[in-house]
Amino acid sequence: MSNTSNHVLNFGAGPAKIPESVLKKAQKEFLDINGTGMSVMELSHRSKPFGAILQKTKDNLAKLMDIPSDYSILFMQGGATTQFAAIFLNLVAKKQDELIKLGKEKEEIVVDYFVTGAWSNKAVQEAERLAPAVQSNPIRVNRVIDVKQKYGKFGTIPPPSEWNLTDPTKHHVAYVYYCDNETIHGVEFPFVPKVNETVPLVADVSSNFLSRPIHVPKYAVVYGGAQKNLGPAGVTIVVVRNDMLVDVNVGPVRPLMLDFKTAADNNSMYNTPPTFAIYMVGLTLEWLIEEKGGLKGIEQANNSKARKLYELIDQSKLYKSPVDPHCRSHMNVVFRLPTEDLEKEFLAGAEKLHMHQLKGHRSVGGIRASIYNAMPEDDVDRLIEYMIEFEKKHSP
Ligand code: PMP
Repeated sequence: MSNTSNHVLNFGAGPAKIPESVLKKAQKEFLDINGTGMSVMELSHRSKPFGAILQKTKDNLAKLMDIPSDYSILFMQGGATTQFAAIFLNLVAKKQDELIKLGKEKEEIVVDYFVTGAWSNKAVQEAERLAPAVQSNPIRVNRVIDVKQKYGKFGTIPPPSEWNLTDPTKHHVAYVYYCDNETIHGVEFPFVPKVNETVPLVADVSSNFLSRPIHVPKYAVVYGGAQKNLGPAGVTIVVVRNDMLVDVNVGPVRPLMLDFKTAADNNSMYNTPPTFAIYMVGLTLEWLIEEKGGLKGIEQANNSKARKLYELIDQSKLYKSPVDPHCRSHMNVVFRLPTEDLEKEFLAGAEKLHMHQLKGHRSVGGIRASIYNAMPEDDVDRLIEYMIEFEKKHSP
């Protein structure tokens, strides 16, 4: 938040910076939303004013992402982590539904995972944990590529020649899963993985949601938590093609709260949805449309911020990117200094200049500058100035 004397620069990976004008609008409406005399948090989720907020949020998301009419927009809970299970259960159910109709309901189902960082690793592990509990069919979890297993660490997206995608003409493939932007390792897919068009493609876009245009028709499911690019924690947005919605009684047993069809049939209100979080997402979408020129506009701004930082890192003798240039994240710029002591000093110096939350994830260390949509280019320029100054003082 800025005030004239003490402008704080928030490089946090999530929960992350929210655009100031969004916070101000929320503040203005905090005690009285749309003339109701109540806070949005005090309104029934079934009230007319909240219904209007929900609908507008869906309409604006559909407009921004150009979502075709045969998709549903779901507001779910439990974070993106809950979706690791929900994706598996719903899409395996969809495949089983198809197999039942073909009289092949006992045959093996395969799920394919790209493992390119910590989050897709968690997702594949959840699938592996749940697979043995599916009683109707054997489920095989296949790692299309596991970058850490193959190269000893995350930090690249190998070319298609190294992928082991399951052949859908020989096996029943329920879906192919990937994480578009690995928040911890700073690895972002520079392309949409090409998979057989009969196989549902699933993307976790939690940390690069709405950071650039996306071609929704390529996907069966695109999902992400809100707390990086879309608002506060507490709501997860799932954009799902309607043919993936299967009766909850078909396929693996799944809690109703994880069932996509139940969410879709009830307009995300099977139970009480996180109304305040949805409202904040709505304000953020308006900001993107009205102030940022939609996804094309924000993409340009994001490219410019990231390019500057990586140029500096590549020219520097002090800073080093552990990620291959072709797949460096536009949202989470990770880098190392020669020693952990220097990294500590770098972070302490940054804090003094009110640059916060630059510490890398505890599992990997180093520095991580998260420069999501809400991060102004000026703040990135300030970080760059600091990095240049720090290097002058500490040239190796
Ligand atoms: N996927 C990605 C890419 C993430 O960055 C995160 C959270 N940082 C998650 C999934 C998990 O999200 P949540 O904490 O909302 O469950």
